[in-house]
Amino acid sequence: MSETQSQARAQAPRPGGAGRRRKSRRATPATVTGRERLSPEMIRLSFDCPGIRGAELPFADHYVKLLFVPEGAGYSWPFDLAEVRETRPRTEQPVMRTYTLRKIDTDNGAFDIDFVVHGADGVAGPWAERAEIGEVIPFAGPGGTWAPRPGAARQVFVGDESALPAVAAGVGNLSDEDVADVFLEVSGQDAHVALPVRESVRVHWVHRGDATPGTRLVEAVRAAGADAGEDCEWFVHGVAEMVREMRRFLFVDAGVPRGRVSISGYWRLGMVEDEWQASKREFTAAAEAAEAAGVPGNR
Ligand SMILES: Cc1cc2nc3c(=O)[nH]c(=O)nc-3n(C[C@H](O)[C@H](O)[C@H](O)COP(=O)(O)OP(=O)(O)OC[C@H]3O[C@@H](n4cnc5c(N)ncnc54)[C@H](O)[C@@H]3O)c2cc1C
Repeated sequence: MSETQSQARAQAPRPGGAGRRRKSRRATPATVTGRERLSPEMIRLSFDCPGIRGAELPFADHYVKLLFVPEGAGYSWPFDLAEVRETRPRTEQPVMRTYTLRKIDTDNGAFDIDFVVHGADGVAGPWAERAEIGEVIPFAGPGGTWAPRPGAARQVFVGDESALPAVAAGVGNLSDEDVADVFLEVSGQDAHVALPVRESVRVHWVHRGDATPGTRLVEAVRAAGADAGEDCEWFVHGVAEMVREMRRFLFVDAGVPRGRVSISGYWRLGMVEDEWQASKREFTAAAEAAEAAGVPGNR
């Protein structure tokens, strides 16, 4: 889901077979087989999904679009996604929510998703809190674009809880020789989760406390610095406001080449995902224009 790297990278083959920019026309079912509370703000659900058996999923940031049928729409799984899209009014279309596949087992057809639980607001977060073993959820995808570049002198991962699963998957993809710095913002000490780290990976936990999401994270990364001349790859995802500030830091202040940065907003303060996805292009264009002018970003 990177805006800067996505053009350069190949696309993942997917069960639905759709191109990345086309809306997926097929839904694949997954059945909840396990649940584990990783921290006060994160729940892992495990899924059985024969539909991904044998799929080639080579990237570190594979994600799916979970499909939630609106209450009262008068249909339920199984349904034909293409037909629903063609025949139902907008208010009856499945609500889509994007989630990283934290662990993927294409031999057995299984994956895990780590959900941030962020209160009663929303569709997917509250669903994850109450989802029961045996429940079936359809999804579109998977898609994916990014993997750590082998041979880079250093990898830097920057994310909040929503990107923690993608960061963990990315770190898990590193080789023993890879050097990495991982900056993760969570609410506090009890929200730390286990990461697949080795000696050459330094993890910097950033505690948000009462601050606005993302602000402490930007401060921590700014304090650590960025060297435009270093052969370093960046993976930066999470709340949109943090992403805008990180873009300014990396592209304007530090002069890091855009091709070395995978960066995008995973959610936005005060917006449901549909609103965020609908406004993302404009948000990114405004950020790019501000960067081109070399001025503090577009508030
Ligand atoms: C490629 C990609 C991968 C992602 N992977 C993951 C993942 O693995 N795990 C994960 O938890 N999220 C992930 N996200 C983010 C997730 O899609 C959004 O957080 C989504 O908005 C959650 O849907 P919802 O129905 O719970 O809340 P929505 O209905 O979209 O929003 C309801 C309210 O909750 C707020 N909100 C949304 N997300 C958060 C949050 N994380 N923290 C605090 N408030 C929030 C919104 O601003 C809004 O006010 C990913 C997003 C993308 C684009």
